[in-house]
Amino acid sequence: MFVLPDLTYAYDALEPVISSKTMHHHHDKHHAKYIEVLNQLLKDSGAAPATMEAAIRDAAGKNAKVFNNAAQAWNHAFFWLCMSGESKPLGGDLAAAIERTFGGVEALKTAFVNEGIGHFGSGWVWLAAEGDTLKVVSTHDAGCLVTEAGVTPILVCDLWEHAYYLDHQQDRKGFLEAWFDKLVDWSFAGQQYAAARGQGAAYAYPAAVPA
Ligand code: FE
Repeated sequence: MFVLPDLTYAYDALEPVISSKTMHHHHDKHHAKYIEVLNQLLKDSGAAPATMEAAIRDAAGKNAKVFNNAAQAWNHAFFWLCMSGESKPLGGDLAAAIERTFGGVEALKTAFVNEGIGHFGSGWVWLAAEGDTLKVVSTHDAGCLVTEAGVTPILVCDLWEHAYYLDHQQDRKGFLEAWFDKLVDWSFAGQQYAAARGQGAAYAYPAAVPA
């Protein structure tokens, strides 16, 4: 079975952009529910994937219920790590790649926010790498870059209303701008970018544990 990873910071660490109340609902209720449902589906079917990544890839295009719950479990775990209440500034190779691809971090912010507000309905907005090339993309509903060979996620932000409605109501643009300016853990993003170029391991969801 899979477990719900703890947050690596306090529930109120991301205030005022994301309130403690939102984090409790989002992590303890939404994220926990995806994992609870996934574990039940796997138990009922007798499947026992060793990793969340295998669960996602095995189910993609075949079993929508398992895929949706596994991918949402993965996306949320990754999303928590993309944020920090402390300043984790951009630097190094990722900063150079952002400069090269977008012309600077402000231009990346514009591309990221525009992708997020242009995305209809629920989903996720990503900064991703293919080798050393960066791109901004969005995925619908539970869509997850784990299924895309050769693509390494660098950052993700949750576009589902449950991510921002309590704190920002319908203002997805305001949420995305504040998220990008105040919450991004560029240290984590830098590790992902290094992994995309073969230096170190990319993020993996905690492996399944015995039931
Ligand atoms: Fe969410």
